[in-house]
Amino acid sequence: MIAITNLTIETAHENLKNGAYTCRELLDVYLENIKRRNKELNAYLEIYNDVYEQAEIATEKFKNGTAGLLTGIPFAIKDNILLKGKIASAGSRILENYKATYDATVMKCLKKAGAIVIGRTNMDEFAMGSSTQNSAFGATRNPLDPSLVPGGSSGGSAAAVAGEMALVALGTETCGSVREPAAFCGLVGLKPTYGALSRHGIIAMGNSLDQVSPFGKTVRDVEIIFKALSQYDEEDSTSVPEDLRKGKNSAGKKIGVPWHLFKEGVDPSIMENFKESLEKFKKAGYEILEIETPTSKYSLAAYYIIMPAEVSTNLARFDGMRYGYHEEADNLLGVYKKSRAQGFGREARRRILLGTYVLSHGYYDAYYNKAIKVRQKIRKEIMNTFETVDLIATPPAPFLPFKIGEKLEDPVAMYLCDVFNAPANLSGTPSIAIPSGKNNKGLPFSIQLTAPHWREDWLFEAGKKFESIR
Ligand code: GLN
Repeated sequence: MIAITNLTIETAHENLKNGAYTCRELLDVYLENIKRRNKELNAYLEIYNDVYEQAEIATEKFKNGTAGLLTGIPFAIKDNILLKGKIASAGSRILENYKATYDATVMKCLKKAGAIVIGRTNMDEFAMGSSTQNSAFGATRNPLDPSLVPGGSSGGSAAAVAGEMALVALGTETCGSVREPAAFCGLVGLKPTYGALSRHGIIAMGNSLDQVSPFGKTVRDVEIIFKALSQYDEEDSTSVPEDLRKGKNSAGKKIGVPWHLFKEGVDPSIMENFKESLEKFKKAGYEILEIETPTSKYSLAAYYIIMPAEVSTNLARFDGMRYGYHEEADNLLGVYKKSRAQGFGREARRRILLGTYVLSHGYYDAYYNKAIKVRQKIRKEIMNTFETVDLIATPPAPFLPFKIGEKLEDPVAMYLCDVFNAPANLSGTPSIAIPSGKNNKGLPFSIQLTAPHWREDWLFEAGKKFESIR
């Protein structure tokens, strides 16, 4: 029996290399778990039919000496990442049968590395949500307690890893969609610097915010994935060329905490755990300072204008004509109306309406332009803050995983999940969520660290340190 509970990429690699087990044997353990648990958890929407061929390719790499760290590693990928010939539905009825015609750049990298992509995972429709209940294909449940949500929007990927149905996974972040489910499922989740990983072949939600983001059980695992996928891609005009990927110098040990952001209501047990985590960092030689980022409190407000504006533009292409869900009607306008009304779910329609409104003549300056200005101010403020501290710490989410069905009728309560995530997405800085203990019901706590642009290495260093002392 292969023990996978504490398995990491490096240990799996060693074992595959020295023949303790084969790629196929390792894969089979995860497939067994999928058989046992996926029906209840709904983490995967599809298990690919070529997983054994992928395992053979990986085995071949071990035989001919071209295997790397990711060779034979079982991955789950979010349903908005294109893989040629496979369905990518973004959790939406409108793309239910859409088959990708090319590989996303990150998938090309994984294929080249010989990773095994087990299947595509459930998500909130077009990545809009914080609980994976907005999927057209049913909610995903939290493997730690199936009566709870796994977080979202990449909840399927998080549940796949936490439920031992993949060793690691890819999700995407527009605002917290990997850090929040990582926190809810007891995993590590990294949102890289904007422009580090290619967005080519990712179904767009908010282009100026989206980033492919890895999940793992350890900081080292997400570091390995980040390093394998972080590279300039000429197919993505927002990908940053290698020579411009330079961060601030001098990794010090100063952690700033924006206590003023905690006013919005943080669960007392999260607060307590967060303070304990800070104490641990202190003992490990870090200095904890209070910081003031007054504009950050407008992050959510700015995000919920900029994102729907981009969403309404991006989703305009789903018109029922070119591809995706199609409804017959008497005329073209009728086709658009019917296809879109029935193809999109409630949250998608809500955001299309909001976005169209804030971009419309007469409201553009009042809302969209203002939000853009606020975003620039937030970015500047965060960059200034990094003149005095090296990392910023908060919890990733203000509350613990909630019940399936909760907050569904109250979109604003759901939007509050993102309160600590938004500054990193708006400013493009890298940010990581790391498990920081459990409560008496076994539910995970988590700490979030944010670093200056291109200083993922500081997150990894502090994160590994924290793993060794938590
Ligand atoms: N909670 C965020 C939202 O609903 C999640 C967005 C994301 O990161 N994909 O917009």
